[in-house]
Amino acid sequence: MKRFFTKLTFTLSLASIVSFGPIFAADSTSLKNALNKLVEGNQRYVNSMTVCHEDWSAKRLAQTQGQTPFAVIVTCSDSRVPPEIIFDQALGDLFVIRVAGNVVDDFAIGSIEYGVTVLGADLVLVLGHSNCGAVDGALKGLKFDNHIQEVLNAIQPAIEGVKGTSENALEKAIKANVRHVEGKLKSSKPVLAKLLEQGKLSILGSYYDLSSGKVEFLDKP
Ligand SMILES: [Zn+2]
Repeated sequence: MKRFFTKLTFTLSLASIVSFGPIFAADSTSLKNALNKLVEGNQRYVNSMTVCHEDWSAKRLAQTQGQTPFAVIVTCSDSRVPPEIIFDQALGDLFVIRVAGNVVDDFAIGSIEYGVTVLGADLVLVLGHSNCGAVDGALKGLKFDNHIQEVLNAIQPAIEGVKGTSENALEKAIKANVRHVEGKLKSSKPVLAKLLEQGKLSILGSYYDLSSGKVEFLDKP
């Protein structure tokens, strides 16, 4: 946990020196608030002290006219990794893209662009998770004669560097896949790469541990 907060502190200190433009809400305070919401929400979830899923009716009514999610979460379809629950967030808080292995294609990137440019989120978090079956399948070189193979094919380039590594190979592959997806988003034109260059967007990688419930942030903006 100490390591986690060291990383987060570094993240926030870097964010504080970035100059943000006026078009988006993305200033250092906005980014700091978004990260704090995720970190604090995950801590509540880990400690079974969640607060966001008790009164649905009020929040539901408040969201009927529009949505202003503070973060875009790109994660796996795995039924054990629901972002709203593990970050203890309510309706309208997170704009979520979920595909097995948290891979991204044009549809996913289009959705992320919508979350950022139309809805105003200034943080995109790529979230991998322990024991990811999709990454495990790619690591083992499993073959399918259906669309599952397309998912594995998308993961393969990300894990080339960890093939043949025996110790913690799956965790390394999962984190490598997060990095790969991050890289794809950071270089995505014309929208995401430009916003990053302008300091109006942060794209971060993270790793969710199924057993502890903790989310580890992997890098800095
Ligand atoms: Zn998964």
